Formats: sequence, C-alpha cells, structure tokens
Amino acid sequence: PFRLSRRALSLKPSSTVAVSSRALELRRAGVDVISMSVGEPDFDTPPHIKAAAVRAIEEGKTKYTAVSGVAELREAISAKFARENGLTYAPDAVTVTSGGKQALFNAFFALLNLGDEVLIPAPYWVSYPEMVALTGAVPVAVPTTPESGFLLDPGEVEARVTPRTRMIILNSPGNPTGAVFPPSVLEAVARIAQRHDLMIVTDEMYEHLVYDATQISIGRYAPEHTLTVNGASKAYAMTGWRIGYAGGPKSVITAMNAIQSQSTSNASSVSQYAALAALTQYEETARFIEMARQAYRERRDRIVAGLNTLGLPTPTPQGAFYVMTDTSRIHPDELEAARILLDEARVAVVPGTDFAAPGQVRLSYATGMEQIEEVLRRVGEVMG
Ligand code: PLP
Repeated sequence: PFRLSRRALSLKPSSTVAVSSRALELRRAGVDVISMSVGEPDFDTPPHIKAAAVRAIEEGKTKYTAVSGVAELREAISAKFARENGLTYAPDAVTVTSGGKQALFNAFFALLNLGDEVLIPAPYWVSYPEMVALTGAVPVAVPTTPESGFLLDPGEVEARVTPRTRMIILNSPGNPTGAVFPPSVLEAVARIAQRHDLMIVTDEMYEHLVYDATQISIGRYAPEHTLTVNGASKAYAMTGWRIGYAGGPKSVITAMNAIQSQSTSNASSVSQYAALAALTQYEETARFIEMARQAYRERRDRIVAGLNTLGLPTPTPQGAFYVMTDTSRIHPDELEAARILLDEARVAVVPGTDFAAPGQVRLSYATGMEQIEEVLRRVGEVMG
C-alpha cells in the first residue's frame, strides 16, 4: 500500500538470497545442509574481551558516548594504526562506528555526490556497489582475473579514470577473492589517486588473516588521499558486537561524525569497552589472532587442495577466509551450480553473480576441519 522510495527500490535483490532461503527450507525439512556461505569466524570472542564488556555493564558505562567514540578507544585505535600499520592518525582523526559497514556508509555519504564515479576492483564485496549507488554515485568495476590470483593491475585502474571519478575502494586481503595486493600495486594506485585527486577508501578488515603475504596499508603511500577502515568483527571474532572504525584526513572524519550524529549517534558503549580491551590487552588478543590464523591456514590448504583434486579449479588465496572456485564443470551458470551443490551435495555456497565473478562460487572456510572434509566428500560424490 505504501509507495517505496526510489533508493529502496534501487537496491538489487541479492542472488544469494535464492540459495540461502532454499538452504533454510531444506534444513527445516530435516536435511543436514553444511553451510560454507557465512562470512564470520567460527571462533568465540576471546574471554578477556567478554570480561571487559561485563565490567563495563557493571560499572554503568551504559549511556550515550561521544559521537566519534569514547576517548580511550580512539586513543587505542590511534596507537594501533601507528603500531601495526605505520599510519599517523591523531585520536581526533579517528571515528568509531557500528561495524565497518557503517564506517563505509558514513564515508560514502560524506564524500560522494550524484553522478560521481567510484572504481571498485572486481570480484568485489557486494555491499560496496550497493552502498555507493545509494548515494547516487556510480560504481565502476575494475576487472581482475583468477589466473592472476585476482591481482589488481594499476593500468586497468588508470584506464577507467574519468573527470567524474572521485574514489577508489580497495579491500586487501579481499572478500571474496582472498587476494593480498603487494606494495608495488598499492604504491602505483596511491600515485594514481594523487595524480587525479581521488580518495582511496581502504577496507582492511581482514588485515590479520594473511598466510603467505604481508599486508601493507596503502595509507602509508598517500596519507592525505586515504581513509583507512577497519573493525573488530573479523580480527577478534566480534561480528555481533558491531564495532568498526576509520582513520583519515580530519575533514573527512568530521563529516562522517556529522552524518553519524544525525543517524546512529554512537556505536554501542558496552561494545566500545570490549573493543578497548581487545586493543589494549594486546598480548592475549595477539595469541588469539595467531591461533585463528594458523587454523585458517590449515583449512585453506586442505580446501584448496581438495577442490583442485576434484577438478574444480581453485586458486590459493593469500588472505581472508574465502576461496573462489570455478564451477563450470558442474554447470556453466554459477547460480545453477550453487543450486546443484545445495540440492545434491547439501552444501551451501555463495554464487559469484553478485560479486561480478561469473562461473565461480565462494566458499568460506571459517568452519571446522571436519566440516571441510565432509564438504569435499559430498562435492566429490556430485562430481562423480
Ligand atoms: N568489509 C568486508 C570486506 C567484509 O567482508 C565485511 C563483512 O562481511 C565487512 C566489511 C563488514 O564488517 P562489519 O560491519 O561486521 O565490521
């Protein structure tokens, strides 16, 4: 009965929904579907972080905070950026948000106008083009290929710069590809941004989940052109706490705070104190990160080897916790391939359609090793 807004109607219905609702249906019917589609760590939040949240509740730290986040947390984030990323962001050049997602959302609304163009390396995380389009700006994909390990070619970036280009989004290690961009690529992209006066929005959510590569922050090469986005979700197994943050030029952070002040006001106070413990009781956190990284690495090695052995070409990703698999031997259409994997192998994966990855599906290996073995067994049966 109500007329919906053009903005709401412009959001693309996700093609992953078809697969995930079918998976739900099967589960309800008692079929044991294994989900390889979720984008979150299977580990529990480390105990020292939970304890800090309990303390915050008991001490009554349960009220509104400053829009940009509590001062201690912004100081800890500023110190983290310096220590781990070689970035200099003063505490007032840092803002805390309700998840990395909201940092990105605030940044796009702070920086983009109708008709501005935004370069996004593809395959990409689906929320980038959708959020960009919500602002009225235009997402422009920069293709990468499985053969190159989804490595970004700076020449392909430069070739797509027009007078309307305002921004480039980087995500390394990347979802869904797991690609980690080397310093030479980052430096070349930084020079392009400086030459054409583009803002680089770098999403470093998976920075700790690297296996054979080193993650470098592009902000080191072009600090005045870079907004660095990060968060607690993936690094500290804190997806439900909803803590993200960003550091960047003060004018951009101030504009992001203005947008936040008129929308969510501030990230959850209790979650902010939990994140503070993650960043300041760092020895315990570092132990957790290393334990998780080793587990992901073993799982990655197993799933990549297993899928390739089954005849499903799967490049070895250097980071994050996803693999992209070429499913053209199951079906040329990845949506159909995902449906076959679900109906016949009882394995839920995400078709590459929305990631701009035709012929491929994404599997998350943030699941136990036994699950991975069972998935390989089931997919093997379907492959014959
Ligand atoms: N960026 C990337 C690349 C992601 O994969 C995700 C989560 O899936 C996010 C950002 C959002 O994380 P959160 O909003 O939980 O911090």
